Parts: sequence; C-alpha cells; structure tokens
Amino acid sequence: MFKNEKISFRLIGGENEIGSNCYYLDIHGTGIILDAGLHPEKKGLEALPNFELLENQNTDYVIISHSHIDHIGSLPYLIQRYPHLKIYTTPQSRDIAEVMLHNSLYISNKEIIDGDPLPHYTHEQLDLLTETINVVKFNEYNELIGYRHLRNEQINLKFLDSGHILGSAGILLETSSIRIFYTGDTCASKQTIMAGAEYPEKPIDAMIMETTTAASGIITKRSDEIKRFAKSINKIVDAGGSILIPVFALGKQQEILALLHNLIKKGSIPELDIYTGGLGNEISDIYDSHRYTSRRTNNKLKLKEIPQLKLDYENLLNDKYFKVPSIVLAPSGMVFDGTPSFILAQRWLKQKNFAIFFVGYLDPDSPGFKILHSKKNEVIKLTESAEEIKVMCEVDYFRFSSHSNREELINLVKITKPKILILVHGEPDGMIWIQTKVQEKLPNTKVIIPKLGEEYKISD
Ligand SMILES: [Zn+2]
Ligand SMILES: [Zn+2]
Repeated sequence: MFKNEKISFRLIGGENEIGSNCYYLDIHGTGIILDAGLHPEKKGLEALPNFELLENQNTDYVIISHSHIDHIGSLPYLIQRYPHLKIYTTPQSRDIAEVMLHNSLYISNKEIIDGDPLPHYTHEQLDLLTETINVVKFNEYNELIGYRHLRNEQINLKFLDSGHILGSAGILLETSSIRIFYTGDTCASKQTIMAGAEYPEKPIDAMIMETTTAASGIITKRSDEIKRFAKSINKIVDAGGSILIPVFALGKQQEILALLHNLIKKGSIPELDIYTGGLGNEISDIYDSHRYTSRRTNNKLKLKEIPQLKLDYENLLNDKYFKVPSIVLAPSGMVFDGTPSFILAQRWLKQKNFAIFFVGYLDPDSPGFKILHSKKNEVIKLTESAEEIKVMCEVDYFRFSSHSNREELINLVKITKPKILILVHGEPDGMIWIQTKVQEKLPNTKVIIPKLGEEYKISD
C-alpha cells in the first residue's frame, strides 16, 4: 500500500470556475475527498470532476459540505469507481441529497435519449447509496473510521454551520499535528431563514476557501436591498404586471418565499399570489421538518403554511393560467434551457409592465446572464436555437446572496489566520483579488490558486 509522510492538497474538479467541485487531501496516507460536484451546464463526462486524478492515491473518505448539485451531483459516479469510500455529511444534507440526486438522475436519464450519456446508475442504486451516507451533527466531534485496515493516525471531523443553505457545513479536520478547514459554500451574514455562518474559534493551519462573489466589488446592505426589492415589486404591481423570479430549487426558493412572506406581513408589499412548485416544494418540506434541528433566524416559520399557488409545469405556456398580478418563483435560477424559468422568461420578456428579477449567482454563459445584461428594446436569443425576442419587460438584479461578499471573506482569513490559504469555487479575477489583498494584509499567509491535478504540500 502506498504510504507517505506528508499532508497535501489536489484539485480534482472545478478549476477557475464554479462547477464540478472536488478536492483531495492526503493526510499522512489517509485519503479524504471533499465534495463530489457535477457541473450544472456541461453535459456527459465533461460535467464530472477528473476522478482519474485519484488513481494511485489512497482513498478512504468522501465528505460532502452540502447538497447543491455542484457539490454532490457526481457522488454516485465516485462511489461506482471507489465503492469502499465512507461517506459523511450532516443529517439535513443527507435528507436533501436523496431528493436532489434522484432529481438529477431523472434529468440525466432524459438526456440519455439525446446521446452522450454519463455512465449509468439506477434509482434503486441511489436508494442504497443514500442509505450508506453517515451523518454527523453540527458541532459534534467524530473520529473518522474507514474500511481500510491501515489507519495512520486519528483524524477528527467536525461540521460547522456555514449559513449558506439548510444543512450546509464548513468542514474542520483535526489531527494531533494539524487543523484544516474547508469553508464549503459560506455566508457570514444572516439571510431570511439561515442564521449566518459559524467559524472555528482557534487559528487553523490550512484553509480551503470558496470565492464565489470575490470578483464583485459591489457591496450592498441587505436591509437597503430589501427596501429596493419591495419598492420595485410595488412599481410593477401598480402598473398591472407580474414578476418572474428565477430561483434555485434548493435554498433560494425557500429564502425568497420567506422574504416575500415577511414583506407581505409587514405591509411593505400587497398580498400577492405567489406561485411555487416542483422540486423546490419538496425541499421546502425538508426545511420545515428540520426547523428545530437547524440554526434559524426564526424556528417557528413553516414554509408550507405560507399561502402559495401551484406552479403547474404543464401550464407554463397557457396565457390564462397565471393570475395578474402575481409573483412566480420558478427554477432554474440561471434560466437554463428547457427549465420552467426559461420557458416563462420568453413569455415575460415580451410583456411591457412585467418584470424579471434575479436574486442569485448567474454564470456568464447562462441565459439568465444574457437577460440581465440586455437593454430595453434590444432583440436577444436566449440560446442558439431559441426564438428572437425584443426585450420589453423590466429586468433587475437584487443582491440576496447566500455567499459571503469579498470583504467578509477577507475578514474570515483575518480571524482564522491560516498559514496556507487555498482558493477555490470562483472566477479567476476574484481569486486574484483575494490573493493580492491577503498578501498585503497577512504577509505570513501563503496563498495558493490551485491548478487541476497538481499536488500542493500543506505540511510535512
Ligand atoms: Zn452551494
Ligand atoms: Zn457551490
């Protein structure tokens, strides 16, 4: 068996982008994989991390930070390849994983008809896979015990609430000689439901940090953004229009629904009909079932009790289906081809007095990004094969991010004082900004922007 004395890091997927996130740690011969994501836009094998890079490495554990597809979507393929891996996540993330992975398989099964299939697995295999996921509660230490006979040293795992979505965790790994912290997707400030991240109290040796929002220098106060959101909704409603809000089914739908509910309760916006549906509603049920077992701003809030009309996917093209005015929360958040928000956006764009409001991250290659950066009366095509549309509706963006802004990320580095900082899950410009800033403020911290497959020594 391959043995070594060092501690090292390798990037297995998600180089310079937010996609098939996957990282590998070798801690004195014990192999730990952090996350196993699937790229949300790429198809077939292209969407997977480069699992070949794990060949000839020791592999013992895979630890999942949260159940967004870009962090868990390739787990079934990883387990097909390395069935002996022991899987760990939080109890909330396991419940969500079950729903997300079945949904992801349902979509990829549909795509097999179009060719370029991923290696196949079944819904039955998925049920077995989710059965084998080990859960560790937040803030509890758990000693990693794998299936291989060789145990080099004791490694403790602790999950800290990362404040991003239900179940999302920062991952703290400790041995007698080193403390390593992976932020996962992290949000330092509280959102409408989530209470904001908790971080390790003592300094750590190496930190793997996400940088989703680091490319943006625009930092807004959440309370100001909420006021602007309410004002913009009122403007559209007063003019007799409806609002489409493209949302991720996991996280964003629940946060925006709770926010709209609060605004209605306070009288900041009128009692509007809100449409929700599909996968997002299944996820809302999981949010409700864990409302007393997760950190919340308000444990009493039950999403299911907020009045909602069913977003019926069969009726997306039916003009008479939607009440006007109303607010439609439809996946996907980035308006990917073929999803409900894609179909609805094409209707909305043509209507004066209507509006499309974006509330989350938009990949520069996504149709959502194209809509956001279009001008009134401009003729656009959402995809190569889509129809040409003249932009008539209002388009706006509201910063309700579920990720820390770049100042908060720098703050986190100041608190944790890592000797080594590895930047992941972001665009190159953002990572370079963080690197420059950290080198200026914390000259003793070595900053690494990792290249795919390259080995970086963290410690001897
Ligand atoms: Zn996420
Ligand atoms: Zn992510």
